[in-house]
Amino acid sequence: MADLTGKIVLITAAAQGIGEASARAFAKAGAKVIATDINAERLRSLDTVPNITTRVLDVLSSDAVAQAVAEIGHIDVLFNCAGVVHSGALLDMSDDDLDFALDLNVRAQIRTIKAILPQMLARKDGAIINMATVASSVKGVPNRAAYTISKAAVVGLTKSIAADYTTSNIRVNAICPGTVDSPSLHDRWTATGDFEGAKKAFIARQPIGRIARPDEVADLAVYLAGATYTTGQVHIIDGGWTA
Ligand code: NAD
Repeated sequence: MADLTGKIVLITAAAQGIGEASARAFAKAGAKVIATDINAERLRSLDTVPNITTRVLDVLSSDAVAQAVAEIGHIDVLFNCAGVVHSGALLDMSDDDLDFALDLNVRAQIRTIKAILPQMLARKDGAIINMATVASSVKGVPNRAAYTISKAAVVGLTKSIAADYTTSNIRVNAICPGTVDSPSLHDRWTATGDFEGAKKAFIARQPIGRIARPDEVADLAVYLAGATYTTGQVHIIDGGWTA
């Protein structure tokens, strides 16, 4: 595996869940991590971790993304982790829900990539990791219309970038987790009105008999950041859900 020592890694949505676990994993691997999120309060827990710098960044704002990239300068690895899960089937989906899902799950990734790709191209070196999910082009999942539509676009985005920029040694990959223990997952269980029942049903989806820990997905992100010969691919990590 390539050495990540000293590599500069920008992670979005790093205040909790997979993003936070990834910030810690990249830092442990010797990278210099810029952990970003809109939640300044929760980001603070990373402030004391060696190799991690935190900064507030709202990936819905092109200006904020441009300013952050200008101030940070050199970025070797971009991990686009920010995302939102809407519940509901197609007939439950409002235009606003779809617009928001597309903005945060897809356009935000396009924003950060457009801001950072030019410097990667100039160096002929860069790794981009886009957070998708199996609820995308990989698999239909009930009650996840806006989510699945938007995350399928992440897979398309990833493949499109690979088709255009692999000749410049840009590696871009999508991560497709199944179910991962995170604060927002707990919120979704609570929102069903039957936390324990929802938890049981979600666990039952994985033949492995449990949901993933965020650090297990973080390990895949670290691998992809250092991997030099995989690009344009969908990397499924789902405890056998789609096996
Ligand atoms: P989470 O949903 O618990 O946390 C999301 C984080 O995103 C929060 O810290 C929040 O403050 C931040 N955020 C929200 N809007 C933002 C914005 N505009 N700019 C910057 N940050 C913003 O974390 P999670 O469940 O680990 O999800 C992380 C990613 O992984 C998402 O893209 C999600 O779709 C994907 N994913 C999660 C699961 C799962 O089961 N948890 C499964 C597959 C994929």
